Amino acid sequence: MIKAVADPATVLVVEDDASLNAALATTLKAAGFRPVTARTAAEGLRWFTHYAPDLVLLDLGLPDRDGLSVIADIRAKGLTTPIVVLSARDAEAMKVEALDLGADDYVQKPFGVDELLARLRAGLRHAVQVRGSAPLVRTGDLEIDLGLRLVTKAHAPLRLSPKEYDLLAELALNLGRTVSHRELLRAIWGSERADIQYLRVYIGQLRQKLGSTADAPLLVSVPGIGYRLAAIS
Ligand code: CA
Repeated sequence: MIKAVADPATVLVVEDDASLNAALATTLKAAGFRPVTARTAAEGLRWFTHYAPDLVLLDLGLPDRDGLSVIADIRAKGLTTPIVVLSARDAEAMKVEALDLGADDYVQKPFGVDELLARLRAGLRHAVQVRGSAPLVRTGDLEIDLGLRLVTKAHAPLRLSPKEYDLLAELALNLGRTVSHRELLRAIWGSERADIQYLRVYIGQLRQKLGSTADAPLLVSVPGIGYRLAAIS
């Protein structure tokens, strides 16, 4: 789970065109990156939470949601992960909007491999400079290192399943704020229509592992609305 310093940079590719998606994965792997691929915005956001990638390569024209809303979602979490937008759209307004929403760079299709790799390296250099600010969330004696995907309680590492981690990470990114059932279902399962019962099961497991009890609630239920990770100084 813990990333070593020499690990290859993880690049999340969100591109619905199957052949381009596969070609990008091959190119990135050959260039020494670790590609993770998604074909929809929902899948992209799910892998984003799961893999905490070093960079996101994002197509704007996706089948389920506009790529622009993916940028907004990532930035709304307060994360500075570099986002390089990839699009066939030549509208200047779209490019400006993507950059305004917090994209770092823009590559126009069709693009050359060398140009793309140069942009990725530039994005990653920028990320290394801001890595000191990789989010570390603390509440009480619980510490969630979103860069390392490491959770400790009273300095002892907790063993969480990937789904439990994803759920906790989503709540940690919104520390002290109630996250609705729908937001959680969308963030963790990629669909608001996923069964809310799953959520209850994972929340129950997380509570046990975090030692969150009725007397000392760390993971708070807000009936009919959602859940909140309590901000404890
Ligand atoms: Ca597309």
